[in-house]
Amino acid sequence: MSDSRSYTDATRLTTLGRAPHDYHGLVNLPAHRGSTVLFPTLAEFENSHVRPDETGRVTYGLLGTPTTFAVETAVAELEGAHGACVVPSGLAAITTALLAVLQAGDHLLITDSAYGPGRRFSDHMLARFGVEVEYYDPLLGADIARLFKPNTRAVLTESPGSYTFEVQDIPAIAAVAHAHNILVLLDNTWATPLYFKPFAHGVDISIHAATKYMSGHSDVLAGTITFTKACEPLVRQTVRDLGISLAPDDCYLLLRGLRSMDVRLKHQEKNALELANWLAARPEVKQVLHPARPDCPGHALWKRDFTGASGLFSIILHPLEKAALSAFLDHLSLFGMGFSWGGFESLIVPCNPRPIRTATAWAEPGQLLRISVGLEHLDDLKADLAAGFARMSAVLGD
Ligand SMILES: *Cc1c(COP(=O)(O)O)cnc(C)c1O
Repeated sequence: MSDSRSYTDATRLTTLGRAPHDYHGLVNLPAHRGSTVLFPTLAEFENSHVRPDETGRVTYGLLGTPTTFAVETAVAELEGAHGACVVPSGLAAITTALLAVLQAGDHLLITDSAYGPGRRFSDHMLARFGVEVEYYDPLLGADIARLFKPNTRAVLTESPGSYTFEVQDIPAIAAVAHAHNILVLLDNTWATPLYFKPFAHGVDISIHAATKYMSGHSDVLAGTITFTKACEPLVRQTVRDLGISLAPDDCYLLLRGLRSMDVRLKHQEKNALELANWLAARPEVKQVLHPARPDCPGHALWKRDFTGASGLFSIILHPLEKAALSAFLDHLSLFGMGFSWGGFESLIVPCNPRPIRTATAWAEPGQLLRISVGLEHLDDLKADLAAGFARMSAVLGD
């Protein structure tokens, strides 16, 4: 639709990527499927080459259709980025962004709280191609400069970590990194483009698992990479060289998910924080890790840099037997146990950061449980968990 830069994000979510009167008045942009694109003349055929800093031209399905360009424009505008590429998963967004900026002989710093499969890619694939990978304490802030080497090329941040919720000082990391010509990458999935604006805080490349809140309905796998003007050719060329693109139907679903993201998140933010506070008062719970609570590592940074909290947080239970944990988890009726998060339905998963971490030690003996709050009524969610705690204490009482 018309220029939306003056609108608030909530309104922009309803206007971005739409042009009804270019499409017979249809409110939603159709999913344009296509591989072959025909050129009417030799001159246009010969002019079909797309430069790596150029987007919006329909030349071949792999390089994007109007549906792809609409969702890319929407995401870039929401994040305050120069541009965006959509890719087939959040993991593909991480791996593609890393491949875009690194070469053999480079040194890469990754937060110890980073998404596990991105670590695995770095330890296996990047190491195989001659990149030196090192992990850092997510709470280092500007002190990360102590780890810089002459060949350090990039820092991969994630704030907060999606299991352990350490909030990082992204502006401080960006300031020291840029002073050494080092690029800052951020996995911004938790905050979404609504609650943290990466480019206003010095990030060069931002990554989202759009599988989570952006699509929001547990039925799409997608990733986004947004970037500064300087990083645009690197990212676009790498996406093209890898031969990946997000299918038009998934672009359509992602755009549709974005329409309701603001209201979904407001509901999930409110209910997640209330649930976190309720859980903090339960005798079974030792600690709650939620960036909007003062006891979360990096809470002051969250308050300074973020405009909201999403619906994902963790709790640590007092140490307990596996049978008691099973009694709690096995018969929950609203909280499903499964991977991913950010959908309309609530989830709970047990996790153990201990074997994953290498730069910092996870010394906490209690069981970590990660909770993704969906769109259900808070009273029903509390009742489901309360029944679980009752089953748990029945086992412990044996
Ligand atoms: C889920 C997730 C990813 C990966 O997304 P997929 O679409 O599942 O590949 C990346 N980063 C974070 C923080 C995630 O939670």
